[in-house]
Amino acid sequence: MLTTGPVPAYPEVLAALGKPVLYDYHPAFQSYYAAVVEKLRQALQIDNAPVIMQGEAILGIEAGAAALINKEDVVLNLVSGVYGKGFGNWAGLYGKEVIELAVPYDEIIDPQAVREALRSRPDITVVSLCHHDTPSGTLNPLHEIGAVVAEHGAYLIVDAVSSFAGMDVHPLDVHADLFITSPSKCLGSTPGLSLIAVTERAWAKIEANPQAPRGSFLSLLAWKDASEPGRPFPVTPSIAEIYALDAALDRYAREGPRNVWTRHAQTATIAREGLLGLGLSLWPKQLAWCAPTATALIVPEGIGDVALRDRLLDHGILVSLGRGETAGKILRVGHMGASAEPAFARTLITAMRGILSNPVHP
Ligand SMILES: *Cc1c(COP(=O)(O)O)cnc(C)c1O
Repeated sequence: MLTTGPVPAYPEVLAALGKPVLYDYHPAFQSYYAAVVEKLRQALQIDNAPVIMQGEAILGIEAGAAALINKEDVVLNLVSGVYGKGFGNWAGLYGKEVIELAVPYDEIIDPQAVREALRSRPDITVVSLCHHDTPSGTLNPLHEIGAVVAEHGAYLIVDAVSSFAGMDVHPLDVHADLFITSPSKCLGSTPGLSLIAVTERAWAKIEANPQAPRGSFLSLLAWKDASEPGRPFPVTPSIAEIYALDAALDRYAREGPRNVWTRHAQTATIAREGLLGLGLSLWPKQLAWCAPTATALIVPEGIGDVALRDRLLDHGILVSLGRGETAGKILRVGHMGASAEPAFARTLITAMRGILSNPVHP
């Protein structure tokens, strides 16, 4: 399964999912939960407790927009793909105005363009960016953009769902006030939770926002102190998902984050070089813009995207199709979590070579 998420879960994660389900009010579960939040804090390299919300990462992204953005906010939404574009809809629901800075989906956002946008509109209070817009396979220069936004003083919301834990990216290094990620991509766990880092200044803004959801499934505030033992959970958390996340975090720490990032980067390099060597083209306009956690390749002439996907499936390899604007044009190969293995990239290249040299399906 060389998909771009969900990805094959690590064996430790699968084993953890089979453990007995504890009662959420059991003091043992409450202290266990606090310990998992602490492991997540360490992985994120932040100073305060992150929030775990009970739904796949889109919940965290939508909840973050609803909590942080209020009707006085002017939002600069940076768009280089489907997810960035989609965020603008939520920003528009909660904010006063959304300014879109978009590039073609095979390009990346230029930090200088962000600087100019902020200069021409000093009233921008929130900036949002998808770090690796997965359907584009491109990686935005988040560190540089974060520095520009910090200089301006705006709040920064980052979708780091398909980059965190696959490369060296952490909320404080990029000045992210809200940094949303998922266990089901590079951490190699399952798609049932949103993981959110929130700065103290963002919490203050959220608490002062009368529009921020309260008493709602979308409420970030409701989960703020959920990791403090003795506090009731707003709703019953999925116990199994917490076990799975715990196992994934343990694995990440045991292998060593640096080793994990290197494994992702090496796999991506082998995939890219191999595909280029077969005469295929990559979707990002420049090699330097390719993400280290997914490879987007242009579907060659003479075969459709679904047909090519199915031919790979005949070889036992499943990759993802394009999505939105990239649908029909590309295939996407994930290098995330357990699938970030050089051997898998080599297997893909071998299969692809066979398919391209024998284009007619037997
Ligand atoms: C996977 C992913 C998400 C989570 O959204 P789903 O489409 O529900 O999987 C959010 N943002 C990015 C960039 C992702 O890759």
